[in-house]
Amino acid sequence: MSAENKRDPYEVLGLNKNVSQDEIKRTYRQLAKKWHPDLNPDNKKEAEEKFKEINEAYELLSDKDKRARYDQFGWAGVDPSHGFGGAPGGGGFDDIFGGGGGFGGFDDIFSSIFGGRSRGGARRQVQRVGSDIEMQIELGFEEAVFGVEKEIQVKRKVPCGECNGTGAEAGTKPEKCSRCQGRGQVTQTSRSAFGLVQQILPCPDCRGRGEIIKKKCQTCKGTGIVNDIDTIKFRIPPGLPDEGVVIPMEGKGNLDAAGGMPGDLQLVVRVKDHPVFQRDGKLLIRDVTVDYVQLVTGADVPITTLDGKTIKLKIPAGTKPGQTLRVEGYGVPIFRDPKGIRGDLFVNVQCAIPKLKDLPREEQDMLEQLAAQRAERMQAEAQQREDEVKKSIKLPKKGSESKENKASSGRGNEGGPKSSPKSPAKGQGRSSPGSKRANQARKGQR
Ligand SMILES: [Zn+2]
Ligand SMILES: [Zn+2]
Repeated sequence: MSAENKRDPYEVLGLNKNVSQDEIKRTYRQLAKKWHPDLNPDNKKEAEEKFKEINEAYELLSDKDKRARYDQFGWAGVDPSHGFGGAPGGGGFDDIFGGGGGFGGFDDIFSSIFGGRSRGGARRQVQRVGSDIEMQIELGFEEAVFGVEKEIQVKRKVPCGECNGTGAEAGTKPEKCSRCQGRGQVTQTSRSAFGLVQQILPCPDCRGRGEIIKKKCQTCKGTGIVNDIDTIKFRIPPGLPDEGVVIPMEGKGNLDAAGGMPGDLQLVVRVKDHPVFQRDGKLLIRDVTVDYVQLVTGADVPITTLDGKTIKLKIPAGTKPGQTLRVEGYGVPIFRDPKGIRGDLFVNVQCAIPKLKDLPREEQDMLEQLAAQRAERMQAEAQQREDEVKKSIKLPKKGSESKENKASSGRGNEGGPKSSPKSPAKGQGRSSPGSKRANQARKGQR
């Protein structure tokens, strides 16, 4: 798309030309959330286009320098192809959803909106945005599953209450800087190999503030900023993923420059383990140990769900130890699901084998009786099974011991193939540690 055909970025954001940087940022965030492709599954194509347009508009307008050039020269002022000294490359602008701009990276709603925010790099072009605060919070297993309201205390830099963040003593006001006419920036023109280069620099008199304070506020020493301990309340929605979650809280970071914007608070979430339940996304998993007879005959056993309810789990006859049974709807609520749909609970069935002597006398007798009664049949079954095993074994013939053996064992130093005709037993002995080792290696990889 050529620059001339592009829509006016103010028009894209629905703003007029006199709006403040803060207003631009706020509007951008609202619109970007509204048009985020993941939030508009029904009209994804349109949303993608709008979202891209909004981001482009914001990229331009959030940069005071570019914005000023656009205001003065239109697209010609910001598009490098027009030969005007445009800022190189644009750099990475700060997409509030993380993912560093561009499409295709929005694999799920969660990582784009709630976590995975890109850090570092050329993060912001909005000027005078304060630093972010990173804070760890720990959630209980059940809190992450069912959601919770939290209250935390954050030490952060905030506008001074005494002077309302102006830095000027009560009753006085900061005055407009005469050097920069309150713009906070000065333009410097210098000559370079490429011709005249215009550079916009922070005003040295007011250090970019646009104002000069004659009488400083005592509380904040004229900085307009004080340290404060802020209590922040927020709600964690049900189904919060239990790994790698960072919750960005806009504007809850530090204010580093009077009149600027505060940074964000980044809450790094850690979820505690549970002694019984485990989690895999929307699935809950727990073990239940039942009696071996119950596995054979089938049974209804009581199990407690993470809700604290006790329900009856039907164990079908013939269930094997290690088999998993599904209990629908007792898993983790799906994150941000408007209908509050929940995943399932998976119950891993384990088998308890009792010690004979621990059983009541009567049961011991019954079991011994049962064992005696089954002995003959079990013996026959075992014989049949082992006959099958024997058939499956194909021993190498004497004299032609396989080349395979030589190749796979890699240990043929003590005579190798020459010694093999002597005894097949030795040959087998040699190959088995090799395969044992291979087994171990395979196990180790798991
Ligand atoms: Zn103050
Ligand atoms: Zn100035």
